[in-house]
Amino acid sequence: MYKYANESFFMNKNTIIPYHKNGILILALVLLSISFGCSQSQIPVLCYHNIYKISGTPGPLYINEKTLEKHIQFMSEKGYKSVMPEDILNHTLRIKLLEGKNVMFSFDDTRLMHYTVAAPLLEKYGYRGTFFIMTVAIGKKNYMTKKMIRGLADRGHSIGLHTYDHQDLRKISAGEWKNQIDRPRQMLEDITGYNICYLAYPYGACNKKTAGEVRKRGISASFQLASPMQQTWSEHFIRRLMVSGTWSPQRLENEMMAMFGKK
Ligand SMILES: [Zn+2]
Repeated sequence: MYKYANESFFMNKNTIIPYHKNGILILALVLLSISFGCSQSQIPVLCYHNIYKISGTPGPLYINEKTLEKHIQFMSEKGYKSVMPEDILNHTLRIKLLEGKNVMFSFDDTRLMHYTVAAPLLEKYGYRGTFFIMTVAIGKKNYMTKKMIRGLADRGHSIGLHTYDHQDLRKISAGEWKNQIDRPRQMLEDITGYNICYLAYPYGACNKKTAGEVRKRGISASFQLASPMQQTWSEHFIRRLMVSGTWSPQRLENEMMAMFGKK
């Protein structure tokens, strides 16, 4: 048996455990760092916009349906699970940490192709997505109808709010909040029959004032784009990666790692 200065020993049948008066503190710090090391601080959230079948130029706002399928298939082959906004919220607030490889697929602006192309592709690989709806577009040409939005919700996809008509929420007047948040949110709840708790800021544009206002109006979590997360109300500054239609699946994963950290 050996002995260090300032240390005593606990002994059981097979092991000798060194005990230091600061040992418990050190152990707690080690466990804490291991637990942070095992789970990502931020879960990758992907943001897609327009999808085209034949003619189109790929870029940050446009992706060919075949490229989109390659992205989704790659995630599936790499063992990623698709997660929903409530999972991201719980992870962000450290209520329930996500382990392993996770990704959230989100689609902005109510486009018809989200219903006809994106949702079936996600479902083909056992995934579900989140669709952020600007309500002014509902039922217009090349946009989703109420019935389609309801259908997505019924098939397990998440429906989120993307305001009434896509204004920069940092710049709207005090009287406009009702039109941009409360009314469209109520409309989406009437359409889907579900509570609508999640928001994507148009243009990703947000600040402390917008976060405070949407929080006050009962939104649980809000998604931006690439600005830094804030310490206060971090769940209202959740970051998303705007995916370019020019990216290969491997490039996409590299960009995910660069923005959200290691797996
Ligand atoms: Zn948008």
